[in-house]
Amino acid sequence: MPAPSPNPEPSTAIATRTAGSSPSLPSAADRSITFRDFQNLIAQMYGAKDDKRGIPGTFMWFMEEVGELSTALREGTPEELAGEFADVAAWLTTLANVANIDLTLAIAQKYGSGCPGCQQLVCRCPPEEKP
Ligand SMILES: [Mg+2]
Ligand SMILES: [Zn+2]
Repeated sequence: MPAPSPNPEPSTAIATRTAGSSPSLPSAADRSITFRDFQNLIAQMYGAKDDKRGIPGTFMWFMEEVGELSTALREGTPEELAGEFADVAAWLTTLANVANIDLTLAIAQKYGSGCPGCQQLVCRCPPEEKP
């Protein structure tokens, strides 16, 4: 199910880029990408449009993609499901860009040393509690 998005589907844009005229690039499946790489890539591809749209509009698109992920989890093909995970990651990253959040730093600070609730590498918080 395609998003009625003002941006092209982010996963499609990335796949096209990978399959394009750069034969030296490894295939998408073999290429590692850090959160920092991804946040920079999203900013490069969509930053101007994203800043213009702002936080409320971007949050709406993010939630739209979360809805598509929900649908794909129930009835999507493996390819559709993978694409929706990529879309949610892309729109979450877009939201971080618009909100001026460094995702790499945010993740490292909160989760880089283990569970933020109990400080253990393997969480020992009571069941059903997750920070
Ligand atoms: Mg989608
Ligand atoms: Zn814990």
